[in-house]
Amino acid sequence: MLKNKTALVTGSTSGIGLGIAHALAAQGANIILNGFGDADEITRLKNSIFQQYGVQVSHHHADMTQSTQITAMMEFAAEQHGAIDILVNNAGIQHVALIEDFPIEKWDAILAINLSAAFHTTRLALPGMKNKNWGRIINIASAHGLVASVQKSAYVAAKHGLIGLTKVTALENAHTNITCNAICPGWVLTPLVQQQIDKRAVQEGISNESAKKNLLSEKQPSGEFVTPEQIGALAVFLCSDAANQVRGAAWNMDGGWLAQ
Ligand code: NAD
Repeated sequence: MLKNKTALVTGSTSGIGLGIAHALAAQGANIILNGFGDADEITRLKNSIFQQYGVQVSHHHADMTQSTQITAMMEFAAEQHGAIDILVNNAGIQHVALIEDFPIEKWDAILAINLSAAFHTTRLALPGMKNKNWGRIINIASAHGLVASVQKSAYVAAKHGLIGLTKVTALENAHTNITCNAICPGWVLTPLVQQQIDKRAVQEGISNESAKKNLLSEKQPSGEFVTPEQIGALAVFLCSDAANQVRGAAWNMDGGWLAQ
């Protein structure tokens, strides 16, 4: 379905981004990975995607807090693959603390990676998409883009902002074949969430397994984690012709979190 398309997935050396990269590659899209990690491990990820799906795979190490590095990544993408057809803004970080204790540098980093980076990639990807009159922009927001939780001021603010950016991007391109939507996952068991589970286990003096159960039972009625593969499948749908009129949506996949 996505043969000869090129997808850039930010923050795709791990977790949800890697799941989305696999799902898009399985549909034939060439993939540009981005994100941090050990050089050998990144080479292994690239080889594994190439071997499984026979698509071109490259990696750019841009730090998503740095607009100049984002510009360099977009230039690299244009040189290597021509214009980007599918942009998945996925890179994200978390920090948990009360507002009065929230480290200023953490606030700045969360806003930069989870929100401003998507503005930069989007503004740089749109001219190429407009030239082709086709594009898909998928912003990985969160249930926290639609509702709040305590101790997550920066994350909740950034994710609510990302849904706002999604709507404006969708509207500004409403008369084209460029769509922009957000996916709002509930809990997904990735390193980002494992860190929060580990912290809770220590703070509450409970086992990791109990901390995991408590985390799920507080918010996610299904009691099960969403998987990166499920989110990847939703991203593939949003890239399909069937989703041509899905525009500016904030689509939750959250085990019932937002139904409460
Ligand atoms: P993760 O920690 O597994 O992966 C994060 C990725 O972002 C990694 O590839 C990492 O290298 C990359 N990254 C981090 N900082 C970066 C930077 N400065 N520049 C470039 N890349 C950077 O996290 P995840 O859980 O897969 O999260 C992916 C996205 O999904 C995030 O936007 C997160 O907010 C969102 N999300 C996650 C959950 C969840 O439960 N895990 C729920 C809702 C939304």
